[in-house]
Amino acid sequence: MVDIALIVLVTIAIAIGYFLGRRSIKKHGLGAFPLSLNKTYFQGLNYLLNEQPDKAVDAFVESLDVNANTLETHLALGKLMRKQGQVDRAIRIHQNLLARPQLEVEHQHQVHLELARDFMAAGLLDRAEMLLKEVIAESTVLRGIAQRYLLDIFQDEREWSDAIEVAEALIAGRYLKSAPEKRRVMVQMITHFYCELAEESLQKNDVVIAKKYLDKALLSDKDSIRAALLIGALENQNGRHKQAIKVLTRAITQNPSLFSECLPELYKAYIGLDAVSGFNQVLAYVESQVAQHPSTTALLFMVDQLLIRAETEPSRQKQAQDMLSHYLREHPSLAGLNKVIALQIPHLSSDIASEVTSLQSLVQRVLKKRFNYQCSSCGFSGRQLHWRCPSCKGWDQMERVKGVEAD
Ligand SMILES: [Zn+2]
Repeated sequence: MVDIALIVLVTIAIAIGYFLGRRSIKKHGLGAFPLSLNKTYFQGLNYLLNEQPDKAVDAFVESLDVNANTLETHLALGKLMRKQGQVDRAIRIHQNLLARPQLEVEHQHQVHLELARDFMAAGLLDRAEMLLKEVIAESTVLRGIAQRYLLDIFQDEREWSDAIEVAEALIAGRYLKSAPEKRRVMVQMITHFYCELAEESLQKNDVVIAKKYLDKALLSDKDSIRAALLIGALENQNGRHKQAIKVLTRAITQNPSLFSECLPELYKAYIGLDAVSGFNQVLAYVESQVAQHPSTTALLFMVDQLLIRAETEPSRQKQAQDMLSHYLREHPSLAGLNKVIALQIPHLSSDIASEVTSLQSLVQRVLKKRFNYQCSSCGFSGRQLHWRCPSCKGWDQMERVKGVEAD
């Protein structure tokens, strides 16, 4: 057990001693106080002093009556056990409390809430869900917090429709009334839930239903880049390229940091509109966008498109090289260097080319090890963009890593 947990346990032991002492004074008067303290309590202290905190907890629970004054102490012990990963013991403490008929209804709800959290920690989500629903139905005081936990369960179970229902109830209720920032986050979460439903529908090839969910996503948050990406792809599939461009450019303006994620779909839309003028338009758009919000990934995407065009329009080769070298002067990066080397190798003599190729393989080894995204909340890093951080479970926390080795 770590030191902080031990300190908490000692504090709880003192609190229990205080309750027992006060009860003893009431019963026997001041003089009798030291002698009438509960024997099990002293056993608990003994276990604590002998560094046997687990046995100490059991002894303290046994020594202490359950009533309005001591409930918080029992709950603190239960929480401590859960935090220590001793979920079984936490469940026992809370179930022991519920077995006491003298517990008032309001306190029963409090214990139900804690027991639900134990079940969540133990992965018994069905049982946790049942308890939380009971608290939501019966306690106006604890409704908001129970809804918040229930929302976590629905997200873990990927029950998106249920999650939307609970999140909307939370926004409408008192729980977030004086927390506008949390309400804003909740709205963004609802948008993601609709996007999740849309993606599930798309996997079943149910495009009509997917579109309905995406419309609701945009209705919830009109600047959602995830919804815009999905709608843009759908519009492109249906040949509605102008609509795709409209929704994507709007989202990019609101979230320029995710420009490179939107660019492939935006490129499809422009080319779908007109293979020649559309190409020039998207090229101009990328140039102006990266001048304001540098992105090596977006620039390299466009350089690659220019090089593909160079097969039929040779002048595009120089355009690609100029665009790349101009950008790299301002924003040097390993990925950019890798592309410069790749463009130079065909023009080198064979012996120099082989040396430069081995240099390039070194650069590529470094690039393979890099992470593209990092969670701004917990620091989790990965090569792929996760809308929900796999580590801290926060939505919209993953950001493009910037810098010489990254974007
Ligand atoms: Zn995170």
